[in-house]
Amino acid sequence: AEQALHATEVRFRAVFDDAAIGIGIADLDGNMLEVNDTLIQMFGGLEHHVRSRNVSEWVHPEDVPQVWRMYGELVRGEREHFRCEKPFYRNDGTVLWTNLTVSLLRDADGAPQYQLALMEDTTERRLLNLRLRYEATHDALTGLPNRTLFFERLEKTLAAPDGSRFGLCYLDLDGFKAINDSLGHSAGDRLLVEVADRLQSCATAPGEMVARIGGDEFVALTTGHASCGEVADLASRILGVLATPIRLDGREFTVRGSIGIVEGPVAGRAPAEVLRSADITMYRAKAAGGNRFELADAEADARAITRHGLTTALPAALERGEFFIEYQPLVHLDDGTVHGAEALVRWLHPQHGILGPDRFIPLAEHTGLIVPLGRWVLEQSVRQAKEWQDQLPEGAEGRPLRINVNLSPTQLHHPGLVAETVEVLERIGLAPGALCLEVTESALIGADEDLLKPLRQLAEMGVDIALDDFGTGYSNLANLRRLPVSVLKLDRSFTQGMQQHPADPVDLKIVEGIVSLAHSLDLAVTVEGVETGAQADHLRRLGCDTAQGWFYARPGPPEHLHRLSLLDAV
Ligand code: C2E
Ligand code: CA
Ligand code: CA
Repeated sequence: AEQALHATEVRFRAVFDDAAIGIGIADLDGNMLEVNDTLIQMFGGLEHHVRSRNVSEWVHPEDVPQVWRMYGELVRGEREHFRCEKPFYRNDGTVLWTNLTVSLLRDADGAPQYQLALMEDTTERRLLNLRLRYEATHDALTGLPNRTLFFERLEKTLAAPDGSRFGLCYLDLDGFKAINDSLGHSAGDRLLVEVADRLQSCATAPGEMVARIGGDEFVALTTGHASCGEVADLASRILGVLATPIRLDGREFTVRGSIGIVEGPVAGRAPAEVLRSADITMYRAKAAGGNRFELADAEADARAITRHGLTTALPAALERGEFFIEYQPLVHLDDGTVHGAEALVRWLHPQHGILGPDRFIPLAEHTGLIVPLGRWVLEQSVRQAKEWQDQLPEGAEGRPLRINVNLSPTQLHHPGLVAETVEVLERIGLAPGALCLEVTESALIGADEDLLKPLRQLAEMGVDIALDDFGTGYSNLANLRRLPVSVLKLDRSFTQGMQQHPADPVDLKIVEGIVSLAHSLDLAVTVEGVETGAQADHLRRLGCDTAQGWFYARPGPPEHLHRLSLLDAV
């Protein structure tokens, strides 16, 4: 029996000595009796430092509140073990973090005798976690809290008891992109760091926080009981600190910003909704000229949300193929044959149904999406025109069908315009003379030679350029000569005057004058918005060349046009 006992003891001793976790045994008064080597190493490597201590000395300010209560219960024999995460001071003052399990050992009669502690060193894991958490919640460039941390704080703020208030300033720098583009990204980065420092100096009171939530977008959050006036003060302070010029590479830059403020009682508000409202309000400040703040207002939000929603949905809509094109015929006024069609884009929105271009073209212009969207419209339209031409029955000779495509001002400025247009025409095999690009008169007002050059190049290749909505701007008739334009497209307002009986004589005179001027400059004249036969008669008599409008056909699917021209053919 003695031998067997000895063998067990040797086995247990080996476990104790070689265990990868720290093990210590103490009596019920807390005196350390035995510790293994791993535990000594964890505490810094000196055995007497550990052995000389009493368990009760290992109090640490970050102890979980219940640890010493559980310890008391254990040594009194009221509990068998407990487990917790516990920090210890090593002798050199550094902190050791452990997962600690303490168990009560009883003698043969069941009376409490010793306590046994098992501890696993978690110090490094904890540091790593802290660092990862810091990196995940702070912006690497400026060191400010990032979007994640800001959202956590906002969530917590809004969950505060009723009666608490909050204030949020959403700042977007005005014209940062221009500085970034002209100075390069590294200068842009330094500018952002300087801005971050200045912002931080504005929000130093307890409960205030500044975060960077996007490229040049920052937020300042106030919590507690800040009144509307105080939040507005914070916004003014922010605009104030930005006003001092920033020196970069020996030059001075003045950065301005637009701020949207959302503030009020926290009750029932959700973080995402607050942020969206702040964003919308910031845009309102920007639209009003920038360098100012605006206060959120529910009515303005409601109006903007659809615009905001449409704007953000645009890119995905293009990818998902939610756009389609309707074609509206243009007919020759003399014999009523089809001349071609204008491509008019529509958006089949999954919630809102079919949206007309007036709803989304301005938004696409604003965000730049008009460039890929316009490219898509051009390609589809050219393909369609090619199809019409190929399908025309033999013998129905005469003039090949043509396609009109609208170009918006941003597309005019896009450097790829000429090359892309030529590429599409060549790839699809449509003659340049079958394409007409419509540019509004207002887009060409004051245009210099640089802006006109791409249009001129296209015109030289045989592409027609039409001046759309002619007569709505302050047309400088003398200027017409200078423009690479071959078609004038008279605005709907002229045709409206011909609807009444008798037709407005002044309108008739004006149109007559425009037509004769246009023809003397070798420009064709087309009219839009022809809704009645009477209008068509007037316009024919006045010498207009082609016309477009509901009288002939509404915009519709490409098959409609095909049918119309087949009718011509027979
Ligand atoms: P727009 O170029 O002046 O196009 C003519 C507009 O008049 C079209 O409206 C058309 O549906 C409408 N219309 C045609 N006939 C009549 C008529 O007899 N009476 C009346 N009252 N209206 C008529 P829509 O389709 O809503 O297009 C609006 C504007 O959107 C267009 O004006 C054009 O500037 C722009 N747009 C359309 N498609 C595109 C596109 O692909 N790219 C660009 N950049 N703009 C486009
Ligand atoms: Ca047009
Ligand atoms: Ca027009």
